[in-house]
This record gives sequence, structure tokens and C-alpha cells, in this order.
Amino acid sequence: MPNFPYKINSKLPNVKTTIFTTVGSMAAKHDAINLSQGFPNFEPDKYLIDLVSKAMNEGHNQYAHMAGLPKLREVIAQKIETLHNRVYNPDNEITITVGASQAIFTAITAFIGKDDEVIVFKPAYDCYEPAIEVNGGVPVFVQLIGKGFKIDWDHFRTKITPRTKMVIINTPHNPSGTILSKEDMLELQKSLKDTDILVVSDEVYEHIVFDGNEHQSASRFDDLASRSFVCASFGKTFHVTGWKVGYCVAPAELMHEFRKTHQFNVFCIDHPVQHALAAYLQNPEHYLALNSFYQEKRDFFLNALQGSKFKIIPSQGTYFQLLGYEDITDEKDVDFAKRLIIDHKLASIPISVFNENALDIKVLRFCFAKTQETLEKATNILKNI
Ligand code: PMP
Ligand code: GLN
Repeated sequence: MPNFPYKINSKLPNVKTTIFTTVGSMAAKHDAINLSQGFPNFEPDKYLIDLVSKAMNEGHNQYAHMAGLPKLREVIAQKIETLHNRVYNPDNEITITVGASQAIFTAITAFIGKDDEVIVFKPAYDCYEPAIEVNGGVPVFVQLIGKGFKIDWDHFRTKITPRTKMVIINTPHNPSGTILSKEDMLELQKSLKDTDILVVSDEVYEHIVFDGNEHQSASRFDDLASRSFVCASFGKTFHVTGWKVGYCVAPAELMHEFRKTHQFNVFCIDHPVQHALAAYLQNPEHYLALNSFYQEKRDFFLNALQGSKFKIIPSQGTYFQLLGYEDITDEKDVDFAKRLIIDHKLASIPISVFNENALDIKVLRFCFAKTQETLEKATNILKNI
């Protein structure tokens, strides 16, 4: 190609290739064990795959309903009512999306415009800020405190201004592996009372919570539910991150606006996969067993690291475990993560990339959604560092 002759006014001048792509390629190049990007390295239930083939063979191969397969929306409504005692109308309060990413992007795009402020807790998963900025909005950051990643709610309240239009929360939280307690949710609810501020509640790890704790969905709390888009992902729950199917639930008035954007963005979602998910989701065992499935992996990972030099605060949810390395080196987390890949053949994510001003607290994130064999190999490496 000749030199590109046109001037581009980028709407996202500061956005670079995501850390997951960068570290993933580096891991491949150095043949490293990859505990960086969050995805399972094992197969989903064969029965679920068979359900997709069945739906294809039965001819569900054309466009699906714009809001999502009605049967799938019904089963989602039943699940939420059983787990969180909140009734969403499948007709006008639930929409199937291209993963949680599109649910989050659409909720932001439908409501955020020029100079609108959106409060984002840091460290934050990387899809929130670009979605705010590309719509002309302004992310306003609240840093979670210390290595326990707690929210200082008084500090949070100082960030609310007349321009605040939305708050994004994420529980269980990526990358920290912490969960919001009932008290946290009540603090949020109290802080937003008598405002028109909306909430995007990113709950993609809703079924991965440990040690007998309960997931506190925004849908459980009356006033929060009345202003929240709750976003979820089948990718995480059924070990199919590559299928990119999720959903969003919100009160009818909010969902009405959401769908205006949704229908011209994607219109509808993969049809045969929705048939398969509608059938599979009818058995609650398929998602209720996930807590103990991943707790076993977390416990194996942590037990295997006993006696190592890493500092561990056990993950409370998600399939991520943070490890503090300040007793090993004072390198920046980005540098240490690179060295781990090159010298030790193990890839992780430095969490400064999710922080405000790249705050470095000497912690790396490891994904334990991996086979026993991979976890054994990885922990053997970590123990010897
Ligand atoms: N939010 C968080 C916190 C995530 O970790 C992910 C997974 N990458 C997403 C949203 C996006 O989910 P999906 O792959 O369903 O778009
Ligand atoms: N959610 C995954 C993670 O946090 C990554 C998904 C992606 O690569 N965008 O690792």
C-alpha cells in the first residue's frame, strides 16, 4: 500500500492493543504456559455442543428474534427469580447480547453522551473506558484501596457531581478476585438514592464465588435494580468464551432505550447457540456446580503454592488469583511479568494496566481456569521462583 494520505481524527487516540493480545502473543512466541488471558483451556460439556449441532440440523440457521430467543429469555428470567427474587419480564426486560462486552457497550452507548461522567472503580476490566470515551463521556476513577481492594464509600460519594450519569460496578471483580458484600451494595444503593444515576453491573462471574459466599447481584436490591443494567456472560459460566453470548437485564424503560441501539448494532445473536443454551440452562446444576468446580481449582493452586515466596490473598470469586511478589523483586509488574514469560515460561497479567495512572502494587494476575496438568506445571514454576 502507498502511504496513507488522509488525516485521521481518532476518537480513541490513547487506546492501544489490549494487554490480553499483547501478553498472549508473547506467551505463544516463548512457548510459555499461559495463565494470562481469562479462558478455560479445557472443553465445554459435550452435551452442550451436541445441542448446538442439533439446533443447526433442525434448521435454526437464520436470524433470531432481535431481543433474543424467547425461550432463552424465559429461562433466564426463571433463573434470576429463583436466585435473586427479582422478576424480569422476558418480553421487554431481557436482551441476549454478543457476550457481556456488547451488553456493556450498548448500555453505555444508549445513555452516555458528550461530557457525561461515568464512575469506574480501578483497577477495572479494560472494556469500560473506551466505551465511555468513544461516546464523548468522561470516566471518573475511584481507586480500590490496598491489596484487599475495598471501596471507600465516602470517597466514592465525593466523586458524584451533577454530571454523573452512570456508575459501573463489577462483582465478582476482575482482576482482583474480590466480591462486593451486601453492605457494599447497600452503600451504593444509599449513595445513589434520589439521583437519576444509572448502574451497569458487570456480573459475568456471577456463578464463580467461593467459600460459601453468595453473589450479591444488583438485581437483589430494589432501588439498585430499578436503575441497573445487569450484564452476564455464558462464556464464563459454560466454558465457552469463544461463543460470545451473554445477556443484559434491566427495567422495561431502560431496556427500551437499550434495544434502540442494540437493534442497529448487532440486530440479533447466533441463533442455534441460543437454542442450545435455552435447553442447557433449564438444568440449574449446570451453573450451580460452577462454584465448587472452580473452588477446587483455586484450592489446588493455592495449596500447591504453600511455602512459595509469593504473597497470597485467596480469591473470593472469578477464575483469577492475584499473587504479590514484593518479597521476590522490586521490578515493575510489567517488567516482572515479561521476565516470567521469557525466563520462566509462564504468562500472567500485570495488574497496573488496569489501574489509574498505571499504579503498580507489585501484583500479578493468574487465571486458574486450566486443567490439572497445566496448574501443576505452573505452580511448579512459581514455587521455584
Ligand atoms: N467483564 C469482565 C469483568 C470480564 O472479565 C469479561 C471477560 N473477558 C467481560 C466483561 C466480557 O465478557 P464476554 O466475553 O462475554 O464479552
Ligand atoms: N476477560 C478476559 C480476561 O480478563 C479477557 C477477554 C479479552 O481478551 N478481551 O482475561
